[in-house]
Amino acid sequence: MEKEFIAGIDKLSKEEIACRVIRPYIGNEIPKNELERIVAETIYFDFPLRKIDQHIFSLELFHGPTLAFKDVGARFMSRCLGYFVKNFNKQITVLVATSGDTGGAVANGFYNVDGVEVVILYPSGKVSSVQELQLTTPGNNIKALEIEGSFDDCQKMVKQAFADKQLNEKIFLTSANSINVARWLPQQFYYFFAYQQWPEKDNTPVISVPSGNFGNICAGLLAHRSGLPVTHFIAACNANDVVTEYLATGNYVPAKSVATISNAMDVGDPSNFVRILELFNKEFRSLKKVMSSYSFSDEKTKEILGEVFREKKYLLDPHGAVGYGALNKYLQQHPGQKGIFLETAHPVKFYDVVEPVINEKVPMPQSVQDLLKLKKNSIKMRSDYRELKEYLFSE
Ligand SMILES: *Cc1c(COP(=O)(O)O)cnc(C)c1O
Repeated sequence: MEKEFIAGIDKLSKEEIACRVIRPYIGNEIPKNELERIVAETIYFDFPLRKIDQHIFSLELFHGPTLAFKDVGARFMSRCLGYFVKNFNKQITVLVATSGDTGGAVANGFYNVDGVEVVILYPSGKVSSVQELQLTTPGNNIKALEIEGSFDDCQKMVKQAFADKQLNEKIFLTSANSINVARWLPQQFYYFFAYQQWPEKDNTPVISVPSGNFGNICAGLLAHRSGLPVTHFIAACNANDVVTEYLATGNYVPAKSVATISNAMDVGDPSNFVRILELFNKEFRSLKKVMSSYSFSDEKTKEILGEVFREKKYLLDPHGAVGYGALNKYLQQHPGQKGIFLETAHPVKFYDVVEPVINEKVPMPQSVQDLLKLKKNSIKMRSDYRELKEYLFSE
């Protein structure tokens, strides 16, 4: 990234920033005017940086249609695929596993895109009611499979499908998880938007990222590698702490995921972690210089959520609460520094968790009130790849 781009970022529109950031990855595959349209449709909503106190700012990534940051990647990816599919005479099936938020964002992004069928696998009983309705109610080209199992089980079934030769000969399958770079690369945009709004350009921010599959923080690290000024990154984790443990001990030990109140981060063996290692040539020490990690229990997360609500008058969602907690902890150990945590979802998406903690109702946007009146429409399935295969063949 040229120095002039960073130095002059204040004067650019967010569309100009996003196009500049993504262009090197697109090359000539998509014409300039089409790319500009895709970018504009992707980031049509706001990404405000809000001051919480002297040292802590919240980058609100939840102003998109499904109230979580995943709208950015899902919208970009669906529009890219929509562009390519025009010259393709086969039906494309997007197969995706979700721990909560990906499903809704992908369903919304791909709804009624011609030539694209979307199959979403989600763990039964482990997503919030708003999340479940977002992914089970669109209908048409969006199919929701409710799996009796965990997110890891869903992800495993999806991976098996991609590795199944017989299936792939019949159906053109593509992924919409953050393993897919079309979903992952555009997540760099909002790190640049954050920097644009950062008030002290001579004291660059620490950035704390609530992390599960580690796509979001990996995009931040890539943005940093391209020249975005960031002092340090923090991977904020819930009880699924394999990366926190790795940074503490140097040993990476994948685990079974455990269910938490920040469910979009319930990942036991994050797929994007290898990308992070590659960015640092697998050198533990160079990674450690740039990234720290903290993990928080549900108990602690609720405590933070309640405290910040009472003392700072700011309502966090459970994922943002983990991000806030990690940033706060780091800043206490590094006086003089200031930072940003990514508020990755709107608290209303998790009203069932948030309301008992703050002892108040969370105000509901009209769109959520309307959503809660709908009836879910899912296909129940055991966590058994053969059932998924049969389903995909019968579609
Ligand atoms: C998906 C998600 C995360 C985790 O992001 P990763 O890229 O998987 O690390 C955090 N918070 C929310 C609200 C999410 O939806």
